[in-house]
Amino acid sequence: MAAQQTVDNKYVYDFAEGNKDLKDLLGGKGANLAEMTNLGLPVPPGFTITTEACKAYLATGREPGGLAEQIEAHLESLERGMGRKLGDPDDPLLVSVRSGAKFSMPGMMETVLNVGLNDRSVEGLALQAGGRADSAASGGADRFAWDSYRRLIQMFGKTVCEVPGEEFEHAIDEAKRAKGTVNDLDLDADDLRALVDTYKKIFAEHTGREFPQEPREQLDLAIRAVFESWNAERAVIYRRQERIPADLGTAVNVVAMVFGNLGPDSGTGVAFTRDPASGAQGIYGDYLANAQGEDVVAGIRNTVPLQELERIDGKSYDELLDYMARLEGHYKDLCDIEFTIERGKLWMLQTRVGKRTAAAAFVIAGQLVDEGLIDMDEALHRVNGAQLAQLMFPRFRLDHDFEPVAKGIGASPGAAVGKVVFSSDRAVELAAEGEPVILVRRETNPDDLNGMIAAKGILTSRGGKTSHAAVVARGMGKTCVSGADELDVNVPAKKFNVAGQTVNEGDVVSIDGTTGKVYLGEVPVMPSEVVQYFEGTLDPERTDDPLVRTVHRIMTHADARRRLRVRTNADTGVDAARARRFGAEGIGLCRTEHMFLGDRRELVERLILAGTDREREDALAALLPLQRADFIEIFREMAGLPVTVRLIDPPLHEFLPPLEQLAVNVAVAQERGEDVAKEEALLAAVRRMHEENPMLGLRGVRLGLVIPGLFAMQVRAITEAAVEVTRAGGSACPEIMVPLVGAVQELETVRAEAEKIIAEVVGDSGVEVLIGTMIEVPRAALTAGQIAEAAQFFSFGTNDLTQMAWGFSRDDVEGAFFWRYLELGIFGISPFESIDRDGVGRLVRIAAEEGRAARPGLKLGVCGEHGGDPDSVHFFHEVGLDYVSCSPFRVPVARLESARAAVQTTGSDPR
Ligand code: PEP
Ligand code: MG
Repeated sequence: MAAQQTVDNKYVYDFAEGNKDLKDLLGGKGANLAEMTNLGLPVPPGFTITTEACKAYLATGREPGGLAEQIEAHLESLERGMGRKLGDPDDPLLVSVRSGAKFSMPGMMETVLNVGLNDRSVEGLALQAGGRADSAASGGADRFAWDSYRRLIQMFGKTVCEVPGEEFEHAIDEAKRAKGTVNDLDLDADDLRALVDTYKKIFAEHTGREFPQEPREQLDLAIRAVFESWNAERAVIYRRQERIPADLGTAVNVVAMVFGNLGPDSGTGVAFTRDPASGAQGIYGDYLANAQGEDVVAGIRNTVPLQELERIDGKSYDELLDYMARLEGHYKDLCDIEFTIERGKLWMLQTRVGKRTAAAAFVIAGQLVDEGLIDMDEALHRVNGAQLAQLMFPRFRLDHDFEPVAKGIGASPGAAVGKVVFSSDRAVELAAEGEPVILVRRETNPDDLNGMIAAKGILTSRGGKTSHAAVVARGMGKTCVSGADELDVNVPAKKFNVAGQTVNEGDVVSIDGTTGKVYLGEVPVMPSEVVQYFEGTLDPERTDDPLVRTVHRIMTHADARRRLRVRTNADTGVDAARARRFGAEGIGLCRTEHMFLGDRRELVERLILAGTDREREDALAALLPLQRADFIEIFREMAGLPVTVRLIDPPLHEFLPPLEQLAVNVAVAQERGEDVAKEEALLAAVRRMHEENPMLGLRGVRLGLVIPGLFAMQVRAITEAAVEVTRAGGSACPEIMVPLVGAVQELETVRAEAEKIIAEVVGDSGVEVLIGTMIEVPRAALTAGQIAEAAQFFSFGTNDLTQMAWGFSRDDVEGAFFWRYLELGIFGISPFESIDRDGVGRLVRIAAEEGRAARPGLKLGVCGEHGGDPDSVHFFHEVGLDYVSCSPFRVPVARLESARAAVQTTGSDPR
């Protein structure tokens, strides 16, 4: 059986065997290398070890049977193709070993370059490079070969054998210091030969063994290290942040090395077919002459803009532009590309559909439609609600005297203000205390990931648009300014100097990720252009801002394509009006509890303390006109659109002062001999109403059934308001919603009383009042068929439904222990944030089906927080709800996601 499996499983694919659609198996990098190979682009030959092999290795801790032989066969064919043998002492083939998962995880997993070098092949490499290296500028072939060897020991030591990276960095810094230079390129062949000796000692000290000289052993260990890096801490954190499933595994690409560090006619770079920050058309990227690939991404040396390559090597530049155009046409999307030039010969090392900012995603989608590459439906899938939400963040208001102290590269847009911190740990610490922080580093590396997640923004003094900080920040939608080289950052001293001033840890700075400007102190913020557009203060037809024009275009298409209606949760006229400007088509949840707060508390106290029917009726009668006025305002703002008003839900004692505070007040007053009769009565009431589990106590419909007249007063206020607005020429469409119903009898009782009042108040006004219920108790979902007999609509209260389905206290658990559940992968995201399809979602599905079976055409909506969550919106579309309801700022997001859910496509995934 096992032997049979060995034969059947193909774990290794030559580049010529794959294609871009095999990302699951070959990872993004491998699939795209295969695609470029098949397009005839100059890709160094190589092969990909599949994610299946990685998964098998991670499951058993051993390479799966047959893998070693398949690698051997592909290696031999690679050697034949290149006319060189791995680690040959005279003319060695060297390979890179690179990770590549289905979804890009920049810098999170491992890469080892120059595999195949050892004490003997380093001489062979020098010999062969002798004919190639430009001795004057590069320091000669020997220098190149020894530099390659020291890089191998460093990378291999750090990534394969867990030798602390700083050890190597200290050693090279020491070598430079001894030489009186800060530039790697000043180290000559002899210096590097000595450095290799030092590196080997470091390696032996930390691993208890010599640096492996056998090339195939190097290769196998490097492959294993790449497999294992799938579960490295930073990769796990990154996946969680980006919601990438934990069980995909990574592929491994073994690629013939080409060298960008052979002299000034060699180099390496990164290119984008459009600007990944703004979406503008043009040539974007960074180039670094005489360097190896990782140097660009690491931001270790400052790069030059890609355009300068035209001057440095016009032929390669033209060729690159040609390939960029071909790739864009082929992928029908923004591509990013890594390339290397080895002595004037261009090699394509990677391409993929490139990560981009939220603004760029919209602008590029619009451009691609204009260029005829995609249609508007596909454009909907090139953007998403999370990106739209980002575009609604505020930006700096610079109409005051704010002078920037430095200007770097606007690497990831947004306006971030916070206290400066210099380490990832400190960022996490302060953020946990609720402080906004800006993480300041010379450059970031993958170990800074936690701090980057915790920070509001990232500021680095080195690195270009493609440095680690920039790429990761863009992926996360986090504001980032990189390469602000006026900043003299001193991490150990926790300070930086700029423009003659010192900024210490804890000082506040403001960074603008669009312009790259850095300000000391707090710069005030203002609404973004996109919010101004939604607010109606920026006319999309008149502005020349390509982003606003495209957002308008895409939203217009989204509205035409979606099936779900989008309402808002709003309980004031102001919120209702804003939500309407944002496109809300009614109110799905008007919570009435705030109407019992403020100066109305006194009336609520009277209601609770009422000793007689008369006293209670008086208190309710006093509340009635106040409530009516609230509803009039809301019905006016939402004229012609449905407004779902929920009867009061929280336990009444929430409107009284807290027990401890009252007890102290009473004791103090008694001490002073004051009259405390009223406070004593209140205290007694609070004690009487105290509940161990208030969330499961006297709230919602139970209140209405226990406190005579309370719901009746609210029903009357709603209906009178609707009649008044309608008689005044408006059009009110109230829907009265009963909370926390678990049994149809509860609803029937409330409904019978409400209908009498409604009939009496409505008269001949023509106002129609619907009566429905929330479905937020699991029993209600399970008996939805019965409840639908008494309900004209259902609205799913997924906050309570999640709380009661899981038995999680919604106010406590997220801060208390969800981190552990996330760590264990019990769920990938809090079920309070995104609907748990299998459990809570199943309840929704059952209730929708059984409700509609009992009452065909039953109106169904959702008003829990999930109504504005992109993934959940897709679920509600699938289940067939009529509408989602969410907070005003989420309304545009829900409009867009509803359309994305409605439009099927096979488009590419921008991740
Ligand atoms: C819900 O439970 O989902 C809901 C909308 O009601 P509330 O959040 O007010 O309990
Ligand atoms: Mg609720």
